[in-house]
Amino acid sequence: MSRHLPIVAVTPFPAAAAHELKDAQLRANLGRATRTIRDKRARVVAEVPDWEELRERAARTKDEVLDRLPELLAAFEAAAVGAGAVVHHAADAAAANAIVADLVRQQGAERVVKIKSMATQEIGLNEALADAGITAIETDLAELIVQLADDTPSHILVPAIHYNRAQIREIFAERMPGFTAESDEPAVLAGAAREYLRRTFLSAQVAVCGANFAVAETGSLVIVESEGNGRMCLTLPGTLIAVVGVEKLLPRMADLGDFLRLLPRSSTGERMNPYTSIFTGVTPGDGPQRLHVVLLDNGRTKTAQDPVGRAALRCIRCSACLNVCPVYERTGGHAYGSVYPGPIGAILSPQLTGQDAGANRSLPYASTLCGACYDVCPVKINIPEILVHLRQTGPKPAAERAVMSTLSWVMRDRRRWRAALRAARTGAAPLRAVTRRHGGTLRRAPWPMTAWTAHRDAPLPAPESFRDWWRRTHAE
Ligand code: SF4
Repeated sequence: MSRHLPIVAVTPFPAAAAHELKDAQLRANLGRATRTIRDKRARVVAEVPDWEELRERAARTKDEVLDRLPELLAAFEAAAVGAGAVVHHAADAAAANAIVADLVRQQGAERVVKIKSMATQEIGLNEALADAGITAIETDLAELIVQLADDTPSHILVPAIHYNRAQIREIFAERMPGFTAESDEPAVLAGAAREYLRRTFLSAQVAVCGANFAVAETGSLVIVESEGNGRMCLTLPGTLIAVVGVEKLLPRMADLGDFLRLLPRSSTGERMNPYTSIFTGVTPGDGPQRLHVVLLDNGRTKTAQDPVGRAALRCIRCSACLNVCPVYERTGGHAYGSVYPGPIGAILSPQLTGQDAGANRSLPYASTLCGACYDVCPVKINIPEILVHLRQTGPKPAAERAVMSTLSWVMRDRRRWRAALRAARTGAAPLRAVTRRHGGTLRRAPWPMTAWTAHRDAPLPAPESFRDWWRRTHAE
């Protein structure tokens, strides 16, 4: 069955954002949470004297991966298979979902436990498994909250960022078997989730994970998490299935150190990550005895061919760009209509799917181009540059295309440009008197300018151009 991909926006961003902006509680929750993480990040980043060198080196390493992608994938596969893993290749979401569902069925399992993974969210794995009669249980606390609420994540790292603790208690009371607590203290809520999940871990036969990094040299997978739920999934079930985007590769184990310094400081504002698991193949008698790695393309090799847009594939999903983005802070993640929200979502989703998919063409416009995202990105992705590139290369409405090509024709010739300015000044002359008390700006213009003045004022052309003024005042 072909299903809606969770990286394809259904509603154009302006309409979705307008809807989310009406929710004052959401804005308060988001403002508080992003401010806290942002401040923590700034403090711990300031402690690292070689932060800029680290960023540079990490960006270079990721670019090397993109340059050598086929070779490094082959190296990873050879090393992983040599260590006892089985490697599968999935060209798209449907192929990846089918591989995972088959592997779970082969184990006779009806449910799987999951470690938080953006790749599995991107392909809609939980929904695909449900269609196959398999229940996927999220074990990350925030993902569990979102799953119990029958909601979708609104932040890469803090999927339940849009809920406060009173709302979370309500969700648990309604949906978590055995939850009876009256308190919404974080320790009480976390304790209840721990108890519920502990029972689940002990009976699971199959776990599904993603990977933060995949080391080509050794065939190792690296998972970085904060709660220890990942460790449980990586050690208790007999079968482990990892769905890994092909861009997650690192060439060498020695490269990992830079990323383990950059990632926790950029994401949670911590100096070190609480649980970092590195595992290679299978070890007889220790941990899962069957390891399957599904290498996911889903638009990545196509994106890697775009000389400007490919930098988006450096992303290590730290979410620092979300926490500093003035647009994200106000609209939240759901407005982007994709599991990748915020600045990285605005450049990644349209590239992975193509800008013609759903309303994804509206995403590169979900930005003020202020550049805060570029400043904090640990792998130096120039997000504003890619946004502009996607705006230039993406599909545009016919009316906009016509206006732009006319403007381009007028502006290519000095005489045409002067004539156009003269005509605009003459046309605006009768409006000067009526707009004087608004500082000479139009507040409501007739079509086709209505779209502009719906959100901002339109200044009238100056009564005299600079050139005319110069000529008049410097006659000799
Ligand atoms: S684009 Fe950069 S800042 Fe944003 S999530 Fe990716 S790595 Fe982090």
